[in-house]
Amino acid sequence: MARLNVLCLDLEGVLVPEIWQAVAKTTGISALRKTTRDIPVYDDLMRARLAILDEHSLPLSTIQEVIASLDPLPGAPDFLAWARHRYQIAILSDTFYEFGMPLMAKLGHPLLLCHRLVVDEGHIVDYRLRQEDPKRQAVRAFHAMNYRVIAAGDSYNDVAMLEEADVGLFFDAPPSVVAEYPSFQAVNGYEELAAALGPLA
Ligand SMILES: [Mg+2]
Repeated sequence: MARLNVLCLDLEGVLVPEIWQAVAKTTGISALRKTTRDIPVYDDLMRARLAILDEHSLPLSTIQEVIASLDPLPGAPDFLAWARHRYQIAILSDTFYEFGMPLMAKLGHPLLLCHRLVVDEGHIVDYRLRQEDPKRQAVRAFHAMNYRVIAAGDSYNDVAMLEEADVGLFFDAPPSVVAEYPSFQAVNGYEELAAALGPLA
C-alpha cells in the first residue's frame, strides 16, 4: 500500500512572525530579539529569555497581548488551504501552547505539537519540552505509523526535522543557515514552496 503524506511545518518564520521578536519590539526589550537563528541550542536560548523576563518582571499576559495582535504571515492561510487538499498537516514548533493556540485559531486549527510553560502567579518561571529532540521524534513517530514525511522549516531548530523527513526543505531561511546545510533544497515564498511540494504529494 502506498504511504500517505504528512506535511510537517515549522510555525514561526514559516506561517507566523517570530513571537519573541514581536515581544521585543512591543516592550522595547531588545535583548529578547534573539531567536534560534542566533542561539542554536534551544535550552540556552530559553534560559536567556526566562532570565530577561524575570529581570523585567514581564508577565505572561503581556506576551499574550502581543501574540493576540499578531496575524499569520501574508499568504500563509491561503498556502495552508492549498496544502490541506494534498497533505495531512502537522505544525512542529518549539513554541508553547500558551502562546500558540490563538495563532492556531487564525490558521484554521491545524494539529500543533509544541511545549508547555510553567506559570506561577502569572509569570513564566520555567518550561517543559514535550520530549527531547521533539521535531525529530515527531517525524519518527509519523514514520512508525507508516506515513511519508515532507518537512519545511526556516532555522537551526528545524534541521533535525528536515534530516529525519523523507524530503526536507528550507523555507525563507537565512543564507547562512542554508549554506551550512547544502543538502536541503531552499525555497523562498509560498509559491516556490507549493511548486516544490506539488510533485511530492
Ligand atoms: Mg522557525
